[in-house]
Order: sequence, then structure tokens, then C-alpha cells
Amino acid sequence: MKTTAPKRPLVGAHFSVSGGLHKALESASEYGCTAMQIFTANARTWKPKKLTADDIDAFAAGCEQTGIKEIASHTAYLINLAAPDPTVHERSCAALKEELNRSTALSIPYVVLHPGSHKDSGMDVGMEKITDSIRRIFDEVSSCTARLLLETTAGQGSGIGHTFEQIAEMLEKIGMPEKTGVCLDTSHIFAAGYDIRTPKTYERTLAEFDRIVGLDQLSVIHINDSKSDFGSRVDRHEHIGYGKIGIDAFGCIMCDPRLSKIPKILETPNPKGEKDWDKINLQTLLSLTSRAKCSKDRS
Ligand SMILES: [Zn+2]
Repeated sequence: MKTTAPKRPLVGAHFSVSGGLHKALESASEYGCTAMQIFTANARTWKPKKLTADDIDAFAAGCEQTGIKEIASHTAYLINLAAPDPTVHERSCAALKEELNRSTALSIPYVVLHPGSHKDSGMDVGMEKITDSIRRIFDEVSSCTARLLLETTAGQGSGIGHTFEQIAEMLEKIGMPEKTGVCLDTSHIFAAGYDIRTPKTYERTLAEFDRIVGLDQLSVIHINDSKSDFGSRVDRHEHIGYGKIGIDAFGCIMCDPRLSKIPKILETPNPKGEKDWDKINLQTLLSLTSRAKCSKDRS
């Protein structure tokens, strides 16, 4: 009987780049990850970050050595393409442009963006501003090879992107399917009111995503449990199986053949001096992918 070697599941976490961008690849590899996420610049300041030739070379060598290709760069939290304030908007556009350029230089395939917050300018005005800005930015960085992923949000405050309809509308208005995609965050969609707690609700939510956005648009999953309640619209991540979503949902995701090629990246806190939560969460996710578990879940 012909057998094929089992493929390793595409799982990873967000890793620190302190000591150099390539250090994150070393950490990811030590944890046995096949995917990872990083910030290529400080996520909480506007300070521009220029890459040196050494940064780029070390990162390329790290990718080669570790074999990790499924890499996402998360944009700075300050970026708000829907900002009514012209200064904030201008800085946001400049920062996203820089991010796309850095990710292209590092051959990072995905750039994850929180679409933005309209403040009090209204949802339609905000979405228009986001899609116009992205179209213009792509015109200015025509050599960009990174795919820009709109992340589903929890819908805190005036945050945009908490319904699948909003995500679909923005992708359509940008009108550049070869350059865009979606990052689905499990804790955000749960807080936004999409239930995934049981196999039945999981199937319903995935079908809804497929119908409205399209599974072919999905490039990355942020795999987090949620500290906050279903439909609370509060964005608070929790360790896998310890939150309000619960372990069953993650079993559904890890065993779903439709998602086997989508990198699943943890964004849960891993503070020094505590238990190694990245290790624990990764082990939990991998334990859900054993053949017996997956076939049981599907029966
Ligand atoms: Zn996320």
C-alpha cells in the first residue's frame, strides 16, 4: 500500500524580534512552528524603521535554515486608514506603505491589517476611506509582493471589519484580489457575534464566511480563545481551551481539511516568568490534529 508522509500542520505564534528580525525565526523553529507572525517595526510608535542589508540577509538565511515560509507581519496598532484626522490618516498611509515595502524586502508573504476605526464619521465614510487609501497605496508600491490581509475585528468602539459583509465590501471596493485577502481571528469573530463553540455552530459560521467573503480569500487564521463573552464586541485573547470559546471549536478548526493549507497563528500572551504558554498552546493545537481525533470529530 502506498503511504505518504504526513504533512506537519501549519501552526505558529507571534514571536518577538528583539535582537533582530531573524531571532523570531529561531524562536519559531525552537518551538517546532511551521508558521509565525512578527512586527517588522515597533507596533506602538510611528517611528519609521529602515531595514539594513544585514537585516534582510539574516532573515533570508533564517527562512532557508528553518524552512518556515508561512510568515505574517502585523501592522502597527496606530495605523488607522479610516481616521478622520488628516494627520493621523497621512501617517497611517505612510506607515502601511513602509510596512508593505519592508515585508516585500523580507519576502514575507502576508501583511495583516486591522481595517480601521471611523471614530464618529460613520461606517460608510470609514470604509470608503480605507478602500481608497489601500488602492492608492498599492499604486505607489507597485513592486509589492506581500498580500495585504484585512483582519476580522471584534467591533470595539467604532472599529470596522466586525461583520463578514464589511470585509467582503471592502475587498470588492479595493478590487485587487491578487493583492488582498483575509485574516480571520477566532476570538474577534466570536466577540463580534459569530458562534463557533460547537461543531454545528462552527459549520454554520464557516459556511456564512464562505458565502459572504469566500474561503478562497482566507490566507491566515489568528487562533485565539476569548476572555470576553460571545457577542460582547470586546477584544481580549485567551489561551486555547481556557476561554469562552472552548476547546471544541479548535478541534473543528485543526481537523478541517478546508483549512489545512491556512497557517494558524497564536496571538496569546507569553510573558516571561510564567508558564511557557506558547509551548502549551501549540501542544494543545497539535494534540487536536491526531488522526483519531480528526476522524472522530467528522463522524
Ligand atoms: Zn488577531
